Amino acid sequence: MRIEPLRWPLADGRDLLFFSLPGHAAEPLPDRRALPARAGTHTELRLDRQTGEWVVIAALRQHRTYKPAPDQCPLCPGPSGISSEVPAPDYDVVVFENRFPSLAGDSTPGLPDTVDAFMSAPGTGHCEVIAFSSDHTGSFADLDAAQALLVVQAWRHRTAELMARPGIAEVFCFENRGEEIGVTLTHPHGQIYAYPYVTPRSATMLRQARLHRERHGTNLFERILADELEEGARIVAQNGSFTAFVPFASRWPLEVHIYPNRFVRNLAGLDDAELESFARIYLDVLGRFDRLYDAPLPYMSALHQYNDDDGQREGYFHVELLSIRRTATKIKYLASSESAMGAFINDTTPEIVAGRLREL
Ligand SMILES: [Zn+2]
Repeated sequence: MRIEPLRWPLADGRDLLFFSLPGHAAEPLPDRRALPARAGTHTELRLDRQTGEWVVIAALRQHRTYKPAPDQCPLCPGPSGISSEVPAPDYDVVVFENRFPSLAGDSTPGLPDTVDAFMSAPGTGHCEVIAFSSDHTGSFADLDAAQALLVVQAWRHRTAELMARPGIAEVFCFENRGEEIGVTLTHPHGQIYAYPYVTPRSATMLRQARLHRERHGTNLFERILADELEEGARIVAQNGSFTAFVPFASRWPLEVHIYPNRFVRNLAGLDDAELESFARIYLDVLGRFDRLYDAPLPYMSALHQYNDDDGQREGYFHVELLSIRRTATKIKYLASSESAMGAFINDTTPEIVAGRLREL
């Protein structure tokens, strides 16, 4: 069952989407803020010809909201209509377009990746914010099962809608958690980026998957999941529809991948029971993360999703959860080998990490 959000206009023309729990109904008020009108795309894509990778040049984001005082939080419900992005007395889950988007506006498909000159293009695409709860404190791991399910239902809704927009190559739902990761708003929230190109890491994985299909005739990700299940040493958690494991070649001191047990390319491919299983295992893994140390774990959560285009045929939906925390007191910084060369050095073994997470 697809849930349909209530759509409500914000003062500058952006849509605010209310996703409500069963029996709840959003009661929004007119947005009376004097916001400047939106003026199309402000950012630029530039092609790095050395790598064929696009870089988003987004100078306007220098002025974005940075660590606001709690009474100025743009994600707390704001019936007074002053600093909040949500003109309502309360809400369950909301989604709206970022006021300071890195990518904005529709585009035509088909950006080149090899050219013989400086190449730039308008920074089209979409950047949305998703507030996981109206409660300013807490995090995804603190949500109850119904609230967590509502968030993943909202992710599924946004994935299907944004993937269908013109010129969108990839829809990325993600969460950054913790000041160590650079989070500028503490209210529990995530973001959704719809890119006009396939991101570098997805392009690499899809290339590997195509090679695997040519050589072995099977899907790479299905094979990885089968191998992890057979070996077993790195499995962290399982339920009927999903498996969470520390990958064989983890790059980060703490890295967990969550795979559905059957091939789907994105959240829209999951049925309702599978979506509920996904919410459950995601909460399970995040709970283990927070029990590792005395303080909540800083992490990045990345939902890898693919569309039905020929070039993404082998793409297998999965989540990659990454943390830079090495020990209770130490952070892994990405230094020259990792940042300059993409050559990761992990100071622990995936098997030890999996063993610890399994016990928690
Ligand atoms: Zn807040």
